[in-house]
This record gives sequence, C-alpha cells and structure tokens, in this order.
Amino acid sequence: MSAIRENRNVVIVGAGIGGIACAARLARSGHRVRVVEKNEKSGGRCDRMIVDGHTFDTGATLFLMPRLYAETFSALGERMEDHLDLRRLDPTYHLYFPDDSSLQLTPDLYKLKAQLEAIEPGSFERLLNYLAEGGEFYRLSLPNLINRDFRSLAEFLNPRMLALFLRLKTLTRHTRNAARFFQDPRLQMAFTFQDMYMGLSPYDSPATYSLMQYTELADGLYYPMGGMYRVTEALTSIAEKLGVEFLYNAPVEKILVDGNRSTGVSLAGGGSLPADVVVANADLGYVYRSLLPDDGMADRIDRKEYGCSTIMFYWGLDRQFSRLGPHNLFLNGDYRQSFEDIFKGTTMSDEPNFYIHAPVRLDPSMAPEGRDTLYVAVPVGHVSSRVAQDWPALQARARAYILRRLAELGVPDLEAHIIVERSFVPNDWRNRYNLTRGSTHGLSHKLTQMAYLRPHNRHERYRNLYFVGASTHPGTGVPTVLVSAALAAQRVQEDFPR
Ligand SMILES: Cc1cc2nc3c(=O)[nH]c(=O)nc-3n(C[C@H](O)[C@H](O)[C@H](O)COP(=O)(O)OP(=O)(O)OC[C@H]3O[C@@H](n4cnc5c(N)ncnc54)[C@H](O)[C@@H]3O)c2cc1C
Repeated sequence: MSAIRENRNVVIVGAGIGGIACAARLARSGHRVRVVEKNEKSGGRCDRMIVDGHTFDTGATLFLMPRLYAETFSALGERMEDHLDLRRLDPTYHLYFPDDSSLQLTPDLYKLKAQLEAIEPGSFERLLNYLAEGGEFYRLSLPNLINRDFRSLAEFLNPRMLALFLRLKTLTRHTRNAARFFQDPRLQMAFTFQDMYMGLSPYDSPATYSLMQYTELADGLYYPMGGMYRVTEALTSIAEKLGVEFLYNAPVEKILVDGNRSTGVSLAGGGSLPADVVVANADLGYVYRSLLPDDGMADRIDRKEYGCSTIMFYWGLDRQFSRLGPHNLFLNGDYRQSFEDIFKGTTMSDEPNFYIHAPVRLDPSMAPEGRDTLYVAVPVGHVSSRVAQDWPALQARARAYILRRLAELGVPDLEAHIIVERSFVPNDWRNRYNLTRGSTHGLSHKLTQMAYLRPHNRHERYRNLYFVGASTHPGTGVPTVLVSAALAAQRVQEDFPR
C-alpha cells in the first residue's frame, strides 16, 4: 500500500470499547474519524442502564489487568487516574460452594492462608506455586501472544513459539493442572472458574489461563467508582476531545466495497459515508454475515466455536442484604456437568452457577438511599439451531433457582423486595448488539482460535478494512479488546502513515 501523507477519512462501525479506543488512537494521529453506532449511546457490551435511580452496568463488571487500561490512556496523552477513581477490592469475591461452605478470595495472603489451610492443609503453599506458575504464564503471554500482531504463519509456527507453547502448558487442561496443586474440589473450582470470563470451560481451556488467577490476586481486581461504564464514558469523552464524531441510532447496513478496497458504509436509515479506511468493531461473525459481500468467510467463521452466553437479571431492591458482598459467585451442583450443559448441551444446568454483583457496597451512588442494585448473571449456552431452546422457560427456571439458592444461603425473601426488574436472554444480547449466536464473549479462546489462528485485525482482501473487538485477535474482555484497538490502529498507521 502506498504511503500517502495526508489526513484520512476513517469510519468505524460500532462504538464498543474496541471502536472507541481505536477511534481515539486514530484521531490522535491526525485522521478524521467518525464512529457509527446502531444504539443510542456508546459502550456495547460495556453498557449501562439506569432505571428508577438504580444504575446497572449491563455487561462488564470486573476491572482486571489495570496496566492494559493505563497503556491506552497514556497512548491517548492522558492519565488513567485523572479519569477513573479506581478502588482495589479486598476481598475480591465471596465464593459459595455446592455444599454451602464459602471462601473469601482475597489478595491478603495471611487471610487467604487461614481459609485455605482450614479447607486443605498444605494448600496455601501449593497456591503460591500455582500463582507463581500463573505469573510466569502472564509474563510470557503478554508480549508473545497478546500484545503481538501475528502477520504470518511462520511467525506463529516456529521452534521458538513451540517451546513457548510447551512452557505455557497449552496442551494441559486447566482443571487437570489445578488438580495437581489442590485435592479439595472446592479449591480446584476456586482457582479455575475465572476461565468463564473468557466464555470458556476450564475443562477445555489450556492451563495457561491460570494467568487469570494470578493477575486477579497479584495485580488486583478493581472497581471504578460509578461502575464499569465509567471506562466507556472516559474513553468516549477523550475520543470526542480528540475530534472523533459519534453518530448514534445509525445502524450500518453494508460495508461498501469496490475491487479490493472498502469505500465506506451505507446506513440503514439511508445515505452513506465514504471512507478511506473502515474499521469494523461490530461482532466479527455478524460483519462477515451481514455487512460484507458473501465470500465464504461467514460460513468459515460460523463453523468456529463460540463462547457461552448469559441469562441476566437486573434487580433494584427496596433494601440491602448484608450477606452479599460486591462480587459473589455461587457454584452449584456438579462443577463438570455445569460446563458440559453450557458448552456441549448449549443450555442451562439444572442447578446453574451464578454471579451477583452488588456495587452499592462500594459505591452508594449506584442506588437510591437505603435501596440496592443487583446484577445477576447465569452462564448458559449460546443461541443454537442444533437444539430446542426455550429461553423464557429457562429464564423463569433460572430466576426461581437463584431465589431458592439465595434463601438457602441466608438471603431470604429477596423476591418480595424486588421493585425494579429487567432481564436479558441470549437473544437479547444478539438483538441489541448484533452478537453472533448471542454469545456474550464471541469466538472461543480455545487453542486453535488463539493468536495467529484467531481472525486477524485486517481483512485479507479489502486491505483498508480493519477489525477490532472481542472476536478478533487477541480476544475478549475489556483490557484485551483495548489491545486489539491498539493493534488495529497500529496497522492503519503503518498502511497510512502521516
Ligand atoms: C454479560 C457480560 C459480562 C462481561 N464481563 C466482563 C468483565 O467483567 N470484565 C471484562 O473485562 N469484560 C467483560 N465482558 C466482556 C467485555 O464486555 C467485552 O469483551 C467487550 O466489551 C467487547 O467490546 P467490543 O468493542 O469488542 O464489542 P461490542 O461491545 O460488542 O461493541 C460493538 C458495537 O457495535 C455496535 N454495532 C453492531 N452492529 C452494528 C451496525 N450494523 N451498525 C452500527 N453499530 C453496530 C454494537 O451495538 C456495539 O455497540 C463481559 C461481557 C458480557 C456481555
């Protein structure tokens, strides 16, 4: 591609975290950038809903890997601490196990030791070894797999990378590796469930992902005051300050192409926006299926494996229950079966695991005084045409189960206190954000869909069309998507230097 030294017209499809961050980076390097978003505001899966004074983060709630966020702010000429009031959490989670026992995960190793030794003598020392290994996986993965833009197969498949994959234990299942450190099934659960953040079953994911447990305890789990949507707001306002124009309620109908180039986008409401560069932030499978001419790629992406989805409940309560901490995870029934049901059965377990985020304990502004705001997520299979899925029935069953389980664990009569209620099922994720199969985490992060094997950040044929977001390289989760924005923006800069 020839280097032309002038401002370029960039159109970005979608104002998710990836779209906003990429827009800001490109505007900072002098391009004219417009972001076209189908919904009424920016955020995508890092969205917010306010109902009767209750403020709900609707998707992301866990602020992990702060260094990756800080890197984005600094690349935009800003300091993260000037925009986000971050509070480190201790404990990180309240975990409840199927036998009704519980554990408070905490970065305070003395407190953690006492709890672990009571469950399994000797386990604390093994946890330290497990975390040391996870730390090594993290330090190796960041430069070699996550922050790296693979341009050719040779960069990925070579003796150095093969040695790296062995060191990262990519061929060992995460649950199997955890079982080498902990005998008690509760500890095996406590130090593998985080794979769900990437929409993965720990029974299928590589042992490499113990980097999640490491970063959570070592780098910390944070809460941005005002909720995760503050990240969206901060990045959107920085982008606007850098000159990015946001067009809301403007679904893109097609990405326009001519020969081997994209020429802009057409809008569902009529009209089109010409562009020298198009960046697609909308979900990758959807972009190939619905926005681009059919070249067989949509079917190829469709054959790939997708992560799970969630049934959500957003509840406003007329009182608070002190039993609930800021982040609570309820592991119920048979651990292995719960993942089989989600990933093989594409449904919901009879006794599903669920997660409750109760931000008012950290941030009273999230509910009117004396009231409470709860975010409840139940991981379930994504939308599938292979099996019959009755979402309203599963939604009702999930609701009844959660209320019953909470009552068993000392949160009685919660239903009587619900004064605000909203709910999402996988079809709602699909419809609101155009997510393929309603998968909240997009393409799975299994070994064969990682790094070079994950869809790249530039189109193979239309060389001025770039991709950013959860289903592209390096993957899902807000900090990882920020990296994909950096990689895509970097690619644009190389192709269109100023
Ligand atoms: C329930 C849930 C919980 C999560 N929890 C966490 C967490 O705790 N921590 C964490 O780090 N991550 C979490 N994640 C993952 C994280 O939220 C996502 O990986 C990230 O926000 C994805 O950003 P994105 O930019 O890739 O895409 P999206 O957020 O999907 O943004 C794409 C945007 O494109 C828009 N769009 C789609 N089609 C069109 C069109 N035709 N025209 C115009 N616009 C269009 C969509 O409306 C959307 O705004 C969670 C996700 C979910 C759903």
